[in-house]
Amino acid sequence: MPAYEYHCDDCNETFTVIATVSQKEKGLQVTCRICGSSNVRQVYTGISVGGKKKTLPIIGGGCSCGGAC
Ligand SMILES: [Zn+2]
Repeated sequence: MPAYEYHCDDCNETFTVIATVSQKEKGLQVTCRICGSSNVRQVYTGISVGGKKKTLPIIGGGCSCGGAC
């Protein structure tokens, strides 16, 4: 079962919600596990994948001259 990370804007806490894909498609009503606020937004764990992409241009450049060559 997939887990979704949510961040609460009211108490600045991040928590995990476990829900099936069909539950998510129906419109999952997520409230903060800590303070009960509905002022939450999903955090995409793909951010860490974006961090990996950062290294790609460095490898692709293959040079540490800083653009001088
Ligand atoms: Zn909260």
